[in-house]
Amino acid sequence: MPEPLTTEPPALDGPVPAELVAIAERHGQVVAAGDHAATLADFRPDRTGQLLGSARLPGRLVSSRLLRLRAEPDGLVAAFIRYTAADGSQTVLRSRWIKLDQGWRVTQVRNVPDTPPVIAAAGPRDDGLDRPHWEGLRAGEVRVQRCAPCGHWIWAPQPLCPRCHSFDLTWPAVDPAGTIYSWTRTWQPFSPELSGHLPFVVVLAELPAAGGRRLLGVLRDGDGADVRVGQAVRGFIDLAPSPDAWPVLRWSLS
Ligand SMILES: [Zn+2]
Repeated sequence: MPEPLTTEPPALDGPVPAELVAIAERHGQVVAAGDHAATLADFRPDRTGQLLGSARLPGRLVSSRLLRLRAEPDGLVAAFIRYTAADGSQTVLRSRWIKLDQGWRVTQVRNVPDTPPVIAAAGPRDDGLDRPHWEGLRAGEVRVQRCAPCGHWIWAPQPLCPRCHSFDLTWPAVDPAGTIYSWTRTWQPFSPELSGHLPFVVVLAELPAAGGRRLLGVLRDGDGADVRVGQAVRGFIDLAPSPDAWPVLRWSLS
Protein backbone atom coordinates (compact mmCIF):
# COMPACT_ATOMS: atom_id res chain seq x y z
CA MET A 1 0.00 0.00 0.00
CA PRO A 2 1.26 3.54 -0.58
CA GLU A 3 2.39 5.73 2.28
CA PRO A 4 0.22 8.81 3.08
CA LEU A 5 -0.08 11.33 0.27
CA THR A 6 1.45 14.04 2.45
CA THR A 7 4.94 12.66 1.69
CA GLU A 8 7.26 14.60 -0.58
CA PRO A 9 7.41 13.76 -4.30
CA PRO A 10 10.53 11.85 -5.35
CA ALA A 11 13.71 13.80 -6.06
CA LEU A 12 14.69 13.73 -9.73
CA ASP A 13 18.38 13.84 -10.66
CA GLY A 14 19.02 14.56 -14.31
CA PRO A 15 16.74 13.95 -17.31
CA VAL A 16 14.38 11.30 -15.91
CA PRO A 17 11.58 10.16 -18.28
CA ALA A 18 8.27 11.39 -16.85
CA GLU A 19 6.50 8.03 -17.24
CA LEU A 20 9.09 6.30 -15.10
CA VAL A 21 7.99 8.13 -11.93
CA ALA A 22 4.61 6.37 -11.94
CA ILE A 23 6.13 3.06 -13.08
CA ALA A 24 8.68 3.02 -10.24
CA GLU A 25 6.09 4.09 -7.67
CA ARG A 26 3.79 1.28 -8.75
CA HIS A 27 6.71 -1.17 -8.67
CA GLY A 28 7.38 -0.26 -5.05
CA GLN A 29 3.71 -0.79 -4.24
CA VAL A 30 3.51 -4.26 -5.79
CA VAL A 31 6.73 -5.34 -4.05
CA ALA A 32 5.41 -4.06 -0.69
CA ALA A 33 2.10 -5.83 -1.31
CA GLY A 34 3.89 -9.13 -1.90
CA ASP A 35 2.44 -9.34 -5.42
CA HIS A 36 5.08 -11.64 -6.89
CA ALA A 37 3.51 -11.90 -10.35
CA ALA A 38 3.44 -8.11 -10.75
CA THR A 39 6.96 -7.81 -9.35
CA LEU A 40 8.31 -10.40 -11.78
CA ALA A 41 6.56 -8.67 -14.68
CA ASP A 42 8.67 -5.57 -13.98
CA PHE A 43 11.90 -7.58 -14.20
CA ARG A 44 13.92 -7.92 -17.34
CA PRO A 45 12.85 -11.43 -18.50
CA ASP A 46 16.38 -12.75 -19.11
CA ARG A 47 17.53 -11.75 -15.60
CA THR A 48 14.60 -12.87 -13.49
CA GLY A 49 16.52 -15.55 -11.58
CA GLN A 50 19.40 -13.24 -10.80
CA LEU A 51 17.15 -10.33 -9.79
CA LEU A 52 15.12 -12.51 -7.43
CA GLY A 53 18.22 -13.23 -5.35
CA SER A 54 19.96 -9.89 -5.68
CA ALA A 55 18.16 -7.91 -2.98
CA ARG A 56 17.15 -8.67 0.58
CA LEU A 57 13.89 -7.50 2.14
CA PRO A 58 12.11 -8.32 5.41
CA GLY A 59 9.25 -10.80 5.14
CA ARG A 60 6.27 -8.60 5.96
CA LEU A 61 6.22 -5.22 4.29
CA VAL A 62 3.53 -2.61 4.90
CA SER A 63 4.47 0.26 2.60
CA SER A 64 6.84 1.65 0.02
CA ARG A 65 8.01 5.08 -0.98
CA LEU A 66 9.90 6.17 -4.09
CA LEU A 67 12.60 8.48 -2.73
CA ARG A 68 14.57 9.38 -5.80
CA LEU A 69 15.14 8.73 -9.50
CA ARG A 70 18.57 9.35 -10.98
CA ALA A 71 19.51 9.37 -14.67
CA GLU A 72 22.80 7.53 -15.19
CA PRO A 73 25.41 8.01 -17.91
CA ASP A 74 24.79 4.57 -19.43
CA GLY A 75 21.14 5.37 -20.22
CA LEU A 76 19.79 3.50 -17.21
CA VAL A 77 17.72 5.19 -14.52
CA ALA A 78 18.26 4.30 -10.87
CA ALA A 79 15.21 4.27 -8.59
CA PHE A 80 15.68 4.40 -4.81
CA ILE A 81 12.66 2.89 -3.08
CA ARG A 82 12.27 2.67 0.69
CA TYR A 83 10.27 -0.22 2.13
CA THR A 84 8.81 -0.25 5.62
CA ALA A 85 8.23 -3.59 7.35
CA ALA A 86 5.54 -4.54 9.85
CA ASP A 87 8.10 -4.21 12.65
CA GLY A 88 8.84 -0.61 11.60
CA SER A 89 12.26 -1.37 10.12
CA GLN A 90 13.12 0.30 6.83
CA THR A 91 15.12 -0.98 3.88
CA VAL A 92 16.18 0.93 0.79
CA LEU A 93 16.66 -0.83 -2.54
CA ARG A 94 18.18 0.67 -5.65
CA SER A 95 16.70 -0.73 -8.84
CA ARG A 96 18.16 0.21 -12.20
CA TRP A 97 15.70 0.50 -15.07
CA ILE A 98 16.28 0.01 -18.77
CA LYS A 99 13.99 0.88 -21.69
CA LEU A 100 13.29 -2.24 -23.77
CA ASP A 101 10.87 -2.73 -26.65
CA GLN A 102 8.21 -3.89 -24.19
CA GLY A 103 8.75 -0.93 -21.85
CA TRP A 104 10.79 -0.06 -18.78
CA ARG A 105 12.18 -3.06 -16.92
CA VAL A 106 14.42 -3.62 -13.88
CA THR A 107 17.84 -4.80 -15.02
CA GLN A 108 19.70 -4.59 -11.67
CA VAL A 109 18.71 -4.35 -8.04
CA ARG A 110 20.59 -4.18 -4.75
CA ASN A 111 20.34 -2.99 -1.17
CA VAL A 112 21.78 0.37 -0.24
CA PRO A 113 24.04 1.47 1.28
CA ASP A 114 26.40 -0.86 -0.53
CA THR A 115 28.16 -3.18 1.85
CA PRO A 116 30.60 -5.98 1.02
CA PRO A 117 29.34 -9.53 1.60
CA VAL A 118 30.75 -11.72 4.34
CA ILE A 119 31.41 -15.05 2.67
CA ALA A 120 30.09 -17.91 4.83
CA ALA A 121 33.22 -19.97 4.14
CA ALA A 122 35.59 -17.34 5.64
CA GLY A 123 38.07 -18.99 8.01
CA PRO A 124 40.84 -21.58 8.00
CA ARG A 125 40.82 -24.44 5.55
CA ASP A 126 40.10 -27.94 6.84
CA ASP A 127 43.78 -28.88 6.76
CA GLY A 128 44.62 -25.85 8.93
CA LEU A 129 47.61 -24.83 6.82
CA ASP A 130 46.39 -21.25 6.56
CA ARG A 131 45.27 -20.90 10.19
CA PRO A 132 48.17 -18.57 11.13
CA HIS A 133 46.95 -16.17 8.44
CA TRP A 134 43.45 -16.08 9.96
CA GLU A 135 44.84 -15.79 13.49
CA GLY A 136 46.85 -12.86 12.15
CA LEU A 137 43.70 -11.12 10.94
CA ARG A 138 42.24 -11.55 14.44
CA ALA A 139 45.40 -9.87 15.76
CA GLY A 140 45.03 -7.03 13.24
CA GLU A 141 47.86 -8.18 10.96
CA VAL A 142 48.13 -9.57 7.44
CA ARG A 143 50.49 -12.54 7.77
CA VAL A 144 51.92 -14.38 4.78
CA GLN A 145 53.88 -17.63 4.89
CA ARG A 146 57.65 -17.42 4.35
CA CYS A 147 60.44 -20.00 4.36
CA ALA A 148 62.94 -19.26 7.15
CA PRO A 149 66.10 -20.75 5.54
CA CYS A 150 65.72 -19.42 1.98
CA GLY A 151 63.35 -16.45 2.43
CA HIS A 152 60.89 -17.59 -0.25
CA TRP A 153 57.39 -16.12 0.14
CA ILE A 154 54.64 -18.74 -0.14
CA TRP A 155 50.94 -18.25 -0.99
CA ALA A 156 48.67 -20.21 -0.91
CA PRO A 157 50.11 -21.79 2.26
CA GLN A 158 52.02 -25.06 1.87
CA PRO A 159 53.28 -27.74 4.28
CA LEU A 160 56.87 -27.17 3.09
CA CYS A 161 58.82 -24.67 1.04
CA PRO A 162 58.30 -25.40 -2.68
CA ARG A 163 61.77 -24.02 -3.42
CA CYS A 164 64.13 -25.57 -0.82
CA HIS A 165 61.78 -28.14 0.72
CA SER A 166 62.34 -26.92 4.27
CA PHE A 167 59.61 -27.42 6.87
CA ASP A 168 60.85 -24.37 8.77
CA LEU A 169 58.12 -21.91 7.77
CA THR A 170 57.33 -18.57 9.39
CA TRP A 171 54.38 -16.14 9.27
CA PRO A 172 55.65 -12.54 9.22
CA ALA A 173 53.19 -9.63 9.10
CA VAL A 174 53.42 -7.66 5.87
CA ASP A 175 52.33 -4.18 4.78
CA PRO A 176 49.03 -4.84 2.93
CA ALA A 177 49.75 -2.37 0.14
CA GLY A 178 49.71 -3.66 -3.41
CA THR A 179 48.36 -3.42 -6.91
CA ILE A 180 45.47 -5.12 -8.67
CA TYR A 181 46.75 -8.10 -10.65
CA SER A 182 43.25 -9.21 -11.68
CA TRP A 183 39.65 -8.51 -10.70
CA THR A 184 36.07 -9.55 -11.37
CA ARG A 185 32.65 -8.03 -10.70
CA THR A 186 29.96 -10.46 -9.57
CA TRP A 187 26.30 -9.83 -10.38
CA GLN A 188 24.95 -13.28 -9.62
CA PRO A 189 23.85 -14.28 -6.08
CA PHE A 190 25.74 -17.58 -6.13
CA SER A 191 25.05 -18.21 -2.43
CA PRO A 192 22.45 -16.84 0.01
CA GLU A 193 24.82 -14.57 1.95
CA LEU A 194 25.57 -12.61 -1.22
CA SER A 195 21.96 -11.43 -1.48
CA GLY A 196 21.71 -7.67 -0.95
CA HIS A 197 25.40 -7.07 -1.67
CA LEU A 198 25.41 -7.30 -5.45
CA PRO A 199 27.29 -6.36 -7.42
CA PHE A 200 30.62 -6.68 -5.63
CA VAL A 201 34.17 -6.71 -6.90
CA VAL A 202 36.82 -9.27 -5.95
CA VAL A 203 40.43 -8.31 -6.56
CA LEU A 204 43.62 -10.35 -6.64
CA ALA A 205 46.14 -7.98 -5.06
CA GLU A 206 49.87 -8.40 -5.61
CA LEU A 207 51.94 -7.45 -2.55
CA PRO A 208 55.52 -6.21 -3.06
CA ALA A 209 56.15 -6.64 0.70
CA ALA A 210 55.40 -10.37 0.34
CA GLY A 211 57.60 -11.07 -2.66
CA GLY A 212 54.79 -10.37 -5.13
CA ARG A 213 52.46 -13.02 -3.69
CA ARG A 214 48.79 -12.38 -4.57
CA LEU A 215 45.91 -12.36 -2.08
CA LEU A 216 42.19 -12.40 -2.90
CA GLY A 217 39.62 -10.18 -1.29
CA VAL A 218 36.47 -8.16 -1.85
CA LEU A 219 36.94 -4.52 -2.82
CA ARG A 220 35.28 -2.33 -0.18
CA ASP A 221 34.21 0.46 -2.50
CA GLY A 222 33.62 -1.53 -5.67
CA ASP A 223 30.03 -0.57 -6.51
CA GLY A 224 30.28 1.68 -9.56
CA ALA A 225 34.08 1.89 -9.29
CA ASP A 226 36.12 1.98 -12.49
CA VAL A 227 38.47 -0.83 -11.53
CA ARG A 228 41.69 -1.34 -13.55
CA VAL A 229 44.54 -3.82 -13.48
CA GLY A 230 47.57 -2.15 -11.91
CA GLN A 231 45.60 0.19 -9.64
CA ALA A 232 46.97 0.63 -6.13
CA VAL A 233 44.98 -1.01 -3.33
CA ARG A 234 45.33 -1.20 0.42
CA GLY A 235 44.17 -4.00 2.70
CA PHE A 236 41.81 -3.44 5.62
CA ILE A 237 40.61 -5.99 8.12
CA ASP A 238 36.87 -6.11 8.71
CA LEU A 239 36.09 -7.36 12.21
CA ALA A 240 34.31 -10.66 12.61
CA PRO A 241 30.52 -10.27 12.88
CA SER A 242 30.44 -12.63 15.90
CA PRO A 243 33.01 -14.13 18.32
CA ASP A 244 32.98 -17.53 16.59
CA ALA A 245 33.37 -16.02 13.10
CA TRP A 246 36.53 -14.79 11.40
CA PRO A 247 37.57 -11.31 10.34
CA VAL A 248 38.13 -10.84 6.62
CA LEU A 249 40.68 -8.99 4.55
CA ARG A 250 39.17 -6.34 2.24
CA TRP A 251 40.86 -4.17 -0.34
CA SER A 252 40.27 -0.50 -0.93
CA LEU A 253 41.36 1.64 -3.87
CA SER A 254 44.14 3.87 -2.60
ZN1 LIG B 1 62.82 -22.36 1.27
